Amino acid sequence: MNYKKISIASVAVGMFAAGAAFAQNAEIATWSGFRKGAASFTFDDGAPSHVTDAGPTFKKYGYKATFNIVVNWNPNWSGFQGLADEGHEIASHSNSHGNNMSGEEASSKKAIEGKIKQKYGIITVAYPNCNVPNESAVKQNYIVGRICNGSWKGMNDEMGKDGPSNWAQVPATMTGAEGQLKTTNDFTGRMQKVIQSNGWAAFLTHGFQGKQNGNANYSPTDLNAIDGALKWAQQNDKDIWVAPMGYVAMYIKERKASKIEPQDGGAANTMAFELKHSIADNISKYDYPLSIRVKSDWKKVEVTQDGAKLESKVDGGYIYFDAVPNAGKIVVKNADAAPESSSSAEPPQSSSSEVAGSSSSTTALPMQAFDGRHLAAYVDASGYIVVQGAQGMNITVFNSLGNVVRTTKGLGFEQKVYTGAKGMYVVKIGNQAKAVNIK
Ligand SMILES: [Zn+2]
Repeated sequence: MNYKKISIASVAVGMFAAGAAFAQNAEIATWSGFRKGAASFTFDDGAPSHVTDAGPTFKKYGYKATFNIVVNWNPNWSGFQGLADEGHEIASHSNSHGNNMSGEEASSKKAIEGKIKQKYGIITVAYPNCNVPNESAVKQNYIVGRICNGSWKGMNDEMGKDGPSNWAQVPATMTGAEGQLKTTNDFTGRMQKVIQSNGWAAFLTHGFQGKQNGNANYSPTDLNAIDGALKWAQQNDKDIWVAPMGYVAMYIKERKASKIEPQDGGAANTMAFELKHSIADNISKYDYPLSIRVKSDWKKVEVTQDGAKLESKVDGGYIYFDAVPNAGKIVVKNADAAPESSSSAEPPQSSSSEVAGSSSSTTALPMQAFDGRHLAAYVDASGYIVVQGAQGMNITVFNSLGNVVRTTKGLGFEQKVYTGAKGMYVVKIGNQAKAVNIK
């Protein structure tokens, strides 16, 4: 009998360690895939060569770009729809290419949305002739307003990890004959720079030397220079995140606004949490996946969000996965968890299916079959750990060091059992344990 008690306590503490590690060591990556820097390639004016030459070049390396279209310049709509279908971003560059957008902030967005269907909609704009138009009209319709070289406005050409100081003035460095970036080395130099600074570089290209460029005849760029840049990016893919401007902008805004909230509904072999933000601007749902890692010594895991399986990997003491904010509970399960007491018969895992997905689900430890009660432990608004359904049962609260800070017996249906310093605690009720977080 005694060995059982010890074993229960060690499970609680072990589980606690997982919960605590989770709360303290779950982090959102600065850039997707925990890369060190980001780069966005943008193409202006809707040139025929964007479809016939840029598209295939990007496809060769598996990367996506942003194509800023001028509605009235007769773009190859089906060709650009094809690029959108491959995951590129189609964006606005106005209707008429007039100075200061000629008041076409909203109308060009609407016109392109009528022609191009894509996952995230038309969420970014590049200003014709590099002139910043009405900023409030831009911000009502787009999450990014792109200028040209930052240095032309007394800013840096590259941005830091949090993006520009003004989302209506996102810098992109001009490439080609009239631009600063002409060769592969020019591009890779900028990418190396943002890998060093954990920043973001954007490039602005028109047409290509010797290709069909339509109206995009300003400052043609050597397509081979871009091909070389993408090849280098692919060789350095663990460090540089190449993605469309709108996706990087979503990522930054979501990362800055999102919180990881540990949930108190796990068994010893399960961690659970919510990833949430409350950005609401009616332009984007900000549902681009964020990269997350959790410090853990688990070797094999299964990660789900709202019941759907997520790709994950375990590497160097971390569990890595991408999850979408505001898209439901994320559950990380130790996939090769051994039964805790190998000397005794293994009772089946208690059924928790009726509460699966609920943030207050309770799963019995594999010591003993769950007795059918609905047990819950959570932290209320005033910072008290509250338990429910524990009448007559022993309740123990462990602090972050695994020390017992409270023992009591369950009384009514619901009771406050402990309040203390912020942090993770484990509440053991009978032979079940749950991690809770006093914030
Ligand atoms: Zn233009």
